Amino acid sequence: MYTQNSKDAFNEAKKVIPGGVDSPVRAFKSVGGTPIFIKRGKGACLIDIDGNKYVDFVQSWGPLIFGHCDKSIEKAVKKAVKKGLSFGAPTKLETKLAQKICDLFEAVDMIRFVSSGTEAVMSAIRLARGYTGRDDIVKFEGCYHGHSDSLLVQAGSGAVTFGTPSSPGVPADFTKHTLLAKYNDIKSVQKCFEDSKNIACVIIEPIAGNMGLIPADIEFLKEIKNLCEKHGALLIFDEVMSGFRASLRGATGLVGVKPDLITFGKVIGGGMPVGAFGGLEEVMDQLSPDGPVYQAGTLSGNPVAMSAGIASLEKIINNEEMYEELEEKANMLMQGFKKVANEFDIQLQTDVRGSMFGFFFNENEVKNFDDALKSDTKLFAKFHKGMLKRGFYFACSQFETGFIDTKIKTKHIEKAISAAREVFKEIV
Ligand SMILES: *Cc1c(COP(=O)(O)O)cnc(C)c1O
Repeated sequence: MYTQNSKDAFNEAKKVIPGGVDSPVRAFKSVGGTPIFIKRGKGACLIDIDGNKYVDFVQSWGPLIFGHCDKSIEKAVKKAVKKGLSFGAPTKLETKLAQKICDLFEAVDMIRFVSSGTEAVMSAIRLARGYTGRDDIVKFEGCYHGHSDSLLVQAGSGAVTFGTPSSPGVPADFTKHTLLAKYNDIKSVQKCFEDSKNIACVIIEPIAGNMGLIPADIEFLKEIKNLCEKHGALLIFDEVMSGFRASLRGATGLVGVKPDLITFGKVIGGGMPVGAFGGLEEVMDQLSPDGPVYQAGTLSGNPVAMSAGIASLEKIINNEEMYEELEEKANMLMQGFKKVANEFDIQLQTDVRGSMFGFFFNENEVKNFDDALKSDTKLFAKFHKGMLKRGFYFACSQFETGFIDTKIKTKHIEKAISAAREVFKEIV
């Protein structure tokens, strides 16, 4: 496969952009090689600047549930662009998108739009702290909630619950209010509530997608909810990824546990930069300008982005049954991968939720971050490379989730499974 143009473009980019990318995972560090530079997308596929075509299982890391260049989203965006790119004043578009989300989520009476998932989570946490008058928060190892300071934490040494910064530039003082618990392990959450009487909220990806795909046990989520109620803390579901991906009502709709706040992003912008956080009126009322908790954004609720979001959600709401079809395809892909892996004595752990899929090169079931880290990342890197060469674009890390969009056809999946067989033959 000829990729010289991408290689040259990457070298040029590296001179002016740190690492040549604007978000680190794009750099292919964990699989080696150079990232491909994209010229355009079309339906289920990406076309790189060397003219190679790939079936895209990344979909801009989740947003593009209708694939690339969807006609109705494109039309809505073009219409909005002609009226002006940004006003910094309210439009009816924001209310329209807000109503759609509030209608679908019982836990969401009111919602505020921001421009990224990071911003949504950061603001939701500030709101939870403002509402409860408490400082500490609980997050789970392996869950990702964007790159704001207090969320860039890792486990400290030994049995301490309080996190330490996972990145230079984050003062330890900023993370000392972040307690770390273990995914799918209720005892670790109980311990947090024993260690601190000052917990404002517990934030969790109810279907974790940022350590590979690891759904939380429903019982575990119920127990977290009980603990939160008992101790007067809020429960935040981070549905930036799973919202409108796992089902029409996200992970919340699948697990039957009602959170106090939900954060959104990715799909709700239809490919444009949109994030949002919402919850019960009583909590949301605390936000400025009505309440004392400050939050703002020059481009928040941007009309072009709102238009893309509305077009995307309207299409979803009118085709609710599409999730069954997406899940069927995701299952077909995962079962296919598992079967061909087994032909070569490779153990593959797979999972599917709606249009989300994940696979680990791991001999044991994966329930938390520690389990995920035991996966064979070297084998994954070889697999990724082999699939890329054959025209299948998967996330360039073992610890990411894959996505099916409505433009991916059964034939794409069948071809991906055959390609996987060829790759396994080559790498084992
Ligand atoms: C992607 C993601 C974020 C961050 O969103 P950005 O738009 O990248 O800032 C936060 N939480 C979860 C669960 C995500 O998947």
